[in-house]
Amino acid sequence: MTTPQGRPELPKTYDPTTVEGPTYQRWLDAGVFGADQASGRPRFSMALPPPNVTGSLHIGHALDHTYQDYLARLHRMRGFEVLWLPGMDHAGIATQNVVERELAKEGKTRFDLGREAFVERVWAWKAESGGRILGQMQRLGDSVDWSRERFTMDEGLSRAVREVFVSLYEQDLLYRGRRIINWCPRCLTALSDIEVEHEEVPGELAHLRYPLQDGSGFIGVATSRAETMLGDTAVAVHPDDPRYRDLVGRTVRLPLVDRPIPVVADAAVDREFGTGAVKVTPAHDPNDWEIAQRHGLPAVDIFTEEAVVNAEGGRFEGLDRYAARREVKAALAELGLLERVEETPHPVGHCYRCRTEVEPRLSLQWFVATRPLADEAMEAVRSGQTRFEPVRYEKTFFGWMEQLRDWCVSRQLWWGHRIPAWYCPDGHVTVARQDPAACASCGAGELAQDEDVLDTWFSSGLWPFSTLGWPDRTDDLASFYPTSVLVTGYDIIFFWVARMLMFGCHFQPPTPFEVVAIHGMVRDAQGKKMSKSFGNVIDPIELMDRYGTDALRFALIRGANPGTDVPLAEEWVEGARNFANKLWNLGRFVISATAATGAPPAGAAALADRWLLSRLEETRAAVTAAYEAYDPAEAARLLHGFAWSELADWAVELAKPRLAAGGEDAERAGATLAYALEVTLRLLHPVMPFVTEELGRALTGVETLTLGPWPAERPGDVDPAAEAAMAELQEAIVALRRFRAEHRVPSSSRPRLLVVPADDAQAALFRAEADSVRRLARLDGVEIGSAPSTPTAKLLAGRAELYLPLVGLLDLDEERARLERELATLDAERARAEAKLANPDFLEKAPGPVVAKARERLAEVDQALAKVRAQQTELSGAR
Ligand SMILES: [Zn+2]
Ligand SMILES: [Zn+2]
Repeated sequence: MTTPQGRPELPKTYDPTTVEGPTYQRWLDAGVFGADQASGRPRFSMALPPPNVTGSLHIGHALDHTYQDYLARLHRMRGFEVLWLPGMDHAGIATQNVVERELAKEGKTRFDLGREAFVERVWAWKAESGGRILGQMQRLGDSVDWSRERFTMDEGLSRAVREVFVSLYEQDLLYRGRRIINWCPRCLTALSDIEVEHEEVPGELAHLRYPLQDGSGFIGVATSRAETMLGDTAVAVHPDDPRYRDLVGRTVRLPLVDRPIPVVADAAVDREFGTGAVKVTPAHDPNDWEIAQRHGLPAVDIFTEEAVVNAEGGRFEGLDRYAARREVKAALAELGLLERVEETPHPVGHCYRCRTEVEPRLSLQWFVATRPLADEAMEAVRSGQTRFEPVRYEKTFFGWMEQLRDWCVSRQLWWGHRIPAWYCPDGHVTVARQDPAACASCGAGELAQDEDVLDTWFSSGLWPFSTLGWPDRTDDLASFYPTSVLVTGYDIIFFWVARMLMFGCHFQPPTPFEVVAIHGMVRDAQGKKMSKSFGNVIDPIELMDRYGTDALRFALIRGANPGTDVPLAEEWVEGARNFANKLWNLGRFVISATAATGAPPAGAAALADRWLLSRLEETRAAVTAAYEAYDPAEAARLLHGFAWSELADWAVELAKPRLAAGGEDAERAGATLAYALEVTLRLLHPVMPFVTEELGRALTGVETLTLGPWPAERPGDVDPAAEAAMAELQEAIVALRRFRAEHRVPSSSRPRLLVVPADDAQAALFRAEADSVRRLARLDGVEIGSAPSTPTAKLLAGRAELYLPLVGLLDLDEERARLERELATLDAERARAEAKLANPDFLEKAPGPVVAKARERLAEVDQALAKVRAQQTELSGAR
């Protein structure tokens, strides 16, 4: 089917399900998302934060990807060579947990399979069920270059990982050492500081008494973890603490394990804490470990890797941490060595993957010396090589970088990049790019590779350049690095952005990305975090099924104010769907009304045309500026207002009689509408790619909107006089429509309007546009004159006075009575509300939100009262 103009006829309603899939496929077939490294265009590149291979699209991804897609599409349309590179992260712990759970269903553990078979099994899992998210990204419309898809464990990226590890080792920026690290007794692996989530939990402070060796008394110490006393190797006091001056250097008999331990003086002791004397457990506390280093104290590890007491705990062996805490306290109490136990909440670290309480553990691990790398990263931001949008996040970044500690990068997992370090029987370490045949120190041929793998963030930290072929000097690297923008939620500035900056600035200077654009988290309509336990999680796939992809994308972007959280409710997605439908109806109307395409004809035009082109140019400029300023929410707001109200409502209604009349003016009206629609579709395309593509193709006959061009500047279209004139007409029409609605004038009534203009120019305007006002306000006619003496209602609309005769329009007495009744009802409600809020009992006992609600209601009643009184005034001139 075609329209009379020879264009394909669009279906009556927009059905996203029949449009989206084929449209995306057409884009793929045409190769519009592929980046041509050899083109002469300016570059715009982004690396997609690689989703976990275990992942599926959640609402946070939907926001993050839509945000990046708007940037990619915007720049593609503006003539840039765009590379948006996709891929996935192997996600060490997360993936290993998934496959271990599968094995558990078969009654097996990874140890039953052994390392090699287990890793094979993970690859098989990845091939089969990993990467579901990639299909979901297509559903969302991501305009990524699929020909360059990467995986953090693929061959090239693995080579980059090894190159970085060995280089850091050679530069003394990576070392192996015994340190207290965060240990997850469930995942059985070390965790970095940022993989630990601190949470306040109910706890206790147990006051213990340690007897002096010579029987001359006791020293009191306080601890939240009584069981760790089994591993104490000293008691420490502050050197300037007069209470303990005489005790320094003496020996304490550690109860239960009966070990003599010294009293040492160390300036790190906080004199204000507890008694001022602290127990020292070097193997289970980072601060105690440092004290032990300074005083040459031994470290006694009392736990197995599952955090169960080991043989060092004597008769407590075999108890887990919590049981041991109870038993140790009971045993001390029996000996009269438990003074008291206070209940007190305190922060405890939890594994970010499995929520198990983290155990500080002394352990031999690999660390990156982060200080020099962090300094380089901070310098890149300070010097403006990289900037944050919004800029306030730089403060967050600096604050975190300044207190960064060395990064523990070894993980006791099997899934990941194996650490390229080998040990000979003599304990020499060989770190090498190629698997070595012999020890680099002694030449021994008997080598064992380190069992551990690297932290997942080690490889994702290389993402901006490893994906471009680094360490090779590839054309892609030369063309697309540094990447232009890195888009991410503020929650992973530390996890990820900081690591990419450290590695990028060091290995591929000057910086991995020029801009870090930060968006917020998607929350529910009340601003509450979405979580399974609150039952307020929104599934983006369901929303796309129900309302279409464009609707979801628009609703997300509409809420994505720079750097702040993004509230989302299903109703808003529904509202965005209605917007897509509105566009569709607008598109169908314009396409059926005119055959024109391209820029509108120049020369004198009707007021409606001049006004529309002026508003269009202002919208184009403001939308473009907002997009470029990383404020797509503002762009979406402007486009929604313009397309819905000015274009679809006002402009179309104003054009209808002109179109119907035919002739040159009809052509001009149609051409102006078609041009405004085309520009609007192009401006909206980065956010709503599907419906705009479908309409844009039908309207203009072009193959695709994705390759631009972006609507050109037309500053000459800005016409303040036309806008001012149109504003006066709109004010009058709105006032008349409001009057009709408020006073319930039947829609069949067509009164004559008398306009008393403020000056000659306004008189001329209403005379020239009388027909538009008549139609849009449902009038019988418009007269220009002076104030009448017959019964009339008087409306004020801007500078003009509008008079409507009331005879035959409405029953004046009945309308007055109705307003009186309404006034009485509202007055009564106001009195009740006031009495309630004056009642001290209510104010005291009702919950806060109930009181707030009552106050809100009172304000609403006041507003309603003011409105009714204004309506009475409108009728007061009438007899
Ligand atoms: Zn864990
Ligand atoms: Zn050796």
